Amino acid sequence: MRDFAVEKEMYRQAVELIEKRYPTGWGGAGVVHTAQGHYFTSVSIDTANNSAVLCIETGAMLEAHKYNEKVTHCMCLVRDDENSPYQVLSPCGICQERLRYWGEDVQVAVTAKEQELLFVPLSVLQPYHWTKAYPEEEMEHYQEPEDKSN
Ligand SMILES: [Zn+2]
Repeated sequence: MRDFAVEKEMYRQAVELIEKRYPTGWGGAGVVHTAQGHYFTSVSIDTANNSAVLCIETGAMLEAHKYNEKVTHCMCLVRDDENSPYQVLSPCGICQERLRYWGEDVQVAVTAKEQELLFVPLSVLQPYHWTKAYPEEEMEHYQEPEDKSN
């Protein structure tokens, strides 16, 4: 289900990070939101070897994973330069694979006409995903941390 407050805050944080990290020229930022209510941000790595590049939002996903939090939303935002409009980039196929760890209901921002902010669940992007061939419980997936207080 869409959460417009979360989506708006993710967009705000992405813009804030791009303006700070890339005040001029190209800029891009990734933001994820977790079920625990946290936001994590990232940028892509710069490298002389293009085959070593990672997607902009990878770092934010890893940050959430570091704290064992369940990703609920993911967004990738870019602009060509400081005078260009912001554009959402749908998650690439590899990022869709990464995000599936948290389930096919993860809401992802997708490239849409007229700069509209649109989120859809992963299941909409990949209705025929290969994992449907296997029992869900056999797939590597996020599990709630055990409650050690009991
Ligand atoms: Zn990607």
